[in-house]
Amino acid sequence: MATYDFSGKVALVTGGGSGIGESCCKLFAAGGAKVVVADIDEKNGERVASEIGDAAAFVKVDTSDAGQVEAMVKFAVDTFGGLDIAVNNAGIGGPQAPVGEYPLDGWRKVIGINLDGVFYGMRYQIPAMLERGGGSIVNMASILGSVGFATSSAYVAAKHAVVGLTKNAAIEYSAKGIRVNSVGPGFIRTPLVESALDDATLDMLAGMHPIGRLGQPEEVAALVGFLASDDASFVTGSYHLVDGAYTTQ
Ligand code: NAD
Repeated sequence: MATYDFSGKVALVTGGGSGIGESCCKLFAAGGAKVVVADIDEKNGERVASEIGDAAAFVKVDTSDAGQVEAMVKFAVDTFGGLDIAVNNAGIGGPQAPVGEYPLDGWRKVIGINLDGVFYGMRYQIPAMLERGGGSIVNMASILGSVGFATSSAYVAAKHAVVGLTKNAAIEYSAKGIRVNSVGPGFIRTPLVESALDDATLDMLAGMHPIGRLGQPEEVAALVGFLASDDASFVTGSYHLVDGAYTTQ
């Protein structure tokens, strides 16, 4: 996969132990960055860090816990000397039910990881980036940051909120050197969808993308890499789809 020049940069990716986050970690490392692989799943996070080698370090974090997120950012600064790039990517699908039956604890859990986790991330990443004179943040939304999907209200609400939160942070920090963007993938072949859905459902979902297939994690990482890179120096506050034309319909 082509990459950008990330030499001298420190990148942190939440949910870096699997799927899209794993591809982002590997893309940053291929471009010469030091990479903090942050994940709640120790085994997978350690695996990704060791596959990258000395340029990577794993930190365990539950992104729905503000104290752990603060410690995660401190780990990046202590380990590699600062923070230049952050991808707030950790997320879960959550329960599937219509709004009138949606489980209350499931709602809190999805909002806690998929929305609070992104806020906590930026809350601590931004001060660290200001210390370096700037940086780039990419928040992982979804196509479901702009359209709905029956039975996924918590996920849809969280992802719409991530798009808005991204815009606000960009208004506040672009002039201070921190660019903030969000990404909206269509359905991507990762453990998140493959563990939750059977083959017939995956085929049905593939058919909902005019391109005729699901996406691959590397195809999302390629966009994240551009947004994180200095080549995207005038790109901030915006929401970028990578969805095989799903949302055109
Ligand atoms: P994945 O399940 O392969 O990876 C998600 C990673 O996040 C896992 O390693 C998991 O351990 C970690 N994680 C979960 N909860 C966490 C927590 N509380 N703290 C820290 N880490 C946690 O999923 P993926 O498909 O790569 O998804 C990554 C992101 O992309 C998510 O935000 C997801 O909503 C978004 N997304 C995925 C798709 C898709 O179709 N796969 C589409 C659009 C958006």
